[in-house]
Amino acid sequence: QPSNGGAKAGAVKTTTDDAQNGNGSQVGGNGNAWSPSSWQSKPMKQSVSYDDEKAVEKALKKLESLPPLVTAAEVSKLRANLEEVALGKAFLLQGGDCAELFDYCTEEKISAKVKLLLQMSMVLIWGGNIPVVRIGRMAGQYAKPRSSMTEIVDGKEVPSFRGDIINGFDLSERTPDPARLVSAYYHSATTLNFLRGQLSSGFADLHHPFEWTLSHVQSSETKEKYQAIVNSITDTIRFMHTIGADTSSSLGTVDLYTSHEGLLLEYEQGLTRLLRDPTDGNKSKWYATSAHFIWIGDRTRQLDCAHVEFFRGIENPIGIKVGPTMRGEELAKLLDIVNPNKEIGKVTLITRYGADKVNELLPGHIEAVVQAGHTVDYKLTIQCSYRNTRSAPTGVKTRQFDNIMIELSNAHNIHQKCGTHLGGVHLELTADAVTECVGGSENLTDDDLSLNYTTYCDPRLNNKQALEAAFMIAAWYRE
Ligand code: PEP
Repeated sequence: QPSNGGAKAGAVKTTTDDAQNGNGSQVGGNGNAWSPSSWQSKPMKQSVSYDDEKAVEKALKKLESLPPLVTAAEVSKLRANLEEVALGKAFLLQGGDCAELFDYCTEEKISAKVKLLLQMSMVLIWGGNIPVVRIGRMAGQYAKPRSSMTEIVDGKEVPSFRGDIINGFDLSERTPDPARLVSAYYHSATTLNFLRGQLSSGFADLHHPFEWTLSHVQSSETKEKYQAIVNSITDTIRFMHTIGADTSSSLGTVDLYTSHEGLLLEYEQGLTRLLRDPTDGNKSKWYATSAHFIWIGDRTRQLDCAHVEFFRGIENPIGIKVGPTMRGEELAKLLDIVNPNKEIGKVTLITRYGADKVNELLPGHIEAVVQAGHTVDYKLTIQCSYRNTRSAPTGVKTRQFDNIMIELSNAHNIHQKCGTHLGGVHLELTADAVTECVGGSENLTDDDLSLNYTTYCDPRLNNKQALEAAFMIAAWYRE
């Protein structure tokens, strides 16, 4: 018996963007029986057409036979952590590559990303004086929604790159290949294995001082400010070591959860398992075991479509991206579908409007969720991300560091005015010294973009910009 409860190995969805627009008139599937494959009866955005259905079925059978990547106990622990975030007792830091490639599954890249997330979290803990819940956008962020399914390369129309789980970036690999579904599993498993090993063998041990390089910071005033924060963090760790307070096991390691956009439902279905609920041994629940946390993208959140149908049945904490076209009543209905019992910490809204729109749009969305009873009886986490992409003169996509920070800081201020709180931040970042976003304390300009522009999708904050974002956010809480 397949461990995902006998769900039919994904009949290949061949529908393209044929879904009705989620206009809120019909609540998709609510109240109907749910199964890991019930999404297949719904229209789907961003679906993938495979040429070889037999190969897809074979890949899905394989996925169904493989062990879960994450356990119900880990997912349950994250839900408890996110409950603290929703109640304002912890802050959520989520970050990683825009599109994670299979090639990023190396010791060097994984270690660097983990180190960056840990450093950022220490700065944020210092700033807010509350624990930070860390979720990597990694070990599975292999599928990307695209605004166009084709692009013109050298005058020829070719299928767009949609992430390593679907096709390859190289022009010879643009046809969706079902074998990539299983390859994604193994790359996730290998990344997770190394991550778990590193964390449990002292990599995150706070006794080992991190290297805090601030030499790139051009403004002496800013450098002084950051140096003061670093000094304060290192002094605190030293003090705790001196008095012996750092012998507690909780300082020896930290939790780092994994996440990705739950875009490719064939893959998610293949890894969905009925598992015993660790908080109530008499019950079994459905877990998406591809990651601890998955989110619905802004392009696939229509109420009556496949993604919302899949997400409403899983036990994991989930995210929902909220962009400028989301209407308030639509958001309220969406919350009712995916979280009918209004469970604290179950849903994280990830707002991303753009620096120019956040002031106009965020208050209305906060009001809509409050009206719907989703932040009165219980708290909902609203985390902030950003859009803010623009084309540089050379034609590559970039983001202005300042605009990202404006969007985040405006969101923080709006929450304060509305009596809610900014629960966390969701950042597209890399630990590599890339030049994809302009600005920051290195003062990168459009002319610098060609120096090390390596993203396969959207521009990411580099290691210094990401750390700087953490310094700036921490400072808001200290001011
Ligand atoms: C993403 O986070 O990779 C993404 C595509 O986001 P959104 O759905 O907000 O566009």
